[in-house]
Amino acid sequence: PATPDVVALQHADVAALLPRPGTDTDKYRRGVVGVAAGSARYPGAAVLAVSGALRGGAGAVRYAGTAAAEVLARHPEALVTDGSPEHTGRVQAWAVGSGLGDGAGAERAVREVLDADVPVLIDADGLRLADVDAVRARRAPTVLTPHAGEAAALLDTSRAAVEAGMLDAVRRLADRYRATVLLKGSATLVAGPDGGPVRANPTGTGWLATAGSGDVLSGLIGALLAAGLDARDAAAAGAHLHGVAGRTAPAPPAASDVAAALPAAWREVCAARPR
Ligand code: AMP
Ligand code: MG
Repeated sequence: PATPDVVALQHADVAALLPRPGTDTDKYRRGVVGVAAGSARYPGAAVLAVSGALRGGAGAVRYAGTAAAEVLARHPEALVTDGSPEHTGRVQAWAVGSGLGDGAGAERAVREVLDADVPVLIDADGLRLADVDAVRARRAPTVLTPHAGEAAALLDTSRAAVEAGMLDAVRRLADRYRATVLLKGSATLVAGPDGGPVRANPTGTGWLATAGSGDVLSGLIGALLAAGLDARDAAAAGAHLHGVAGRTAPAPPAASDVAAALPAAWREVCAARPR
């Protein structure tokens, strides 16, 4: 039979991808995520990305940026530094860009993260600052998570044009950046750099259309990358869990509530694991 253009993962497919800590595991094997996000103007984006990473099953989260105090106030378990990513301890994956702004520190953070030889997720302001050739030259996987407006800026077209051709847009971006691209919207799409079927997420809900929701997703996917999931799997599983969390959180949820609902979403998805 012909390979379909678009496939949708079900709970059982995602459950099979999610890590299950063994009895002999430790926090490094669970995965250490670096989060480079937030700015003086948008400290909350850093807090939300760290929330997503912690509730995405990270063994530890290292935060690098100007919102260290805010992150620590909300998440005492985070390991924070107000330096740049280069001066953060070792991580197994980075999530960069949410609320990063456009100051000198932002550009530097993106550059340093792209230079690290670990999987990197780039969201929001990071997308504008990431050099296409630097992304293409990476050996470790890269995941980009634009919404339609951000995708339009990267493709030098209009938001309406992206929305009218989401499938084409996600494929073109994956090809241009030689990266995994998760194009956010009411139907989130994930395309890999090597072609193949695009994954469409069936779990979304309009309740996710709230400020900060994408920041939670970036940390969540960062945690799945740090746990060792392949880039397409991390992106698709992250979108899936995020959608379930948006439905499970008492409505109407704020973005923090979506992060708080991730453990329940994880439980619901894993209940579909074949036994
Ligand atoms: P951002 O635009 O970065 O804040 O991210 C918004 C998040 O909410 C993404 O994960 C979107 O896929 C999701 N989202 C936004 N609008 C909808 C919608 N109408 N239906 C389902 N998910 C949505
Ligand atoms: Mg966003």
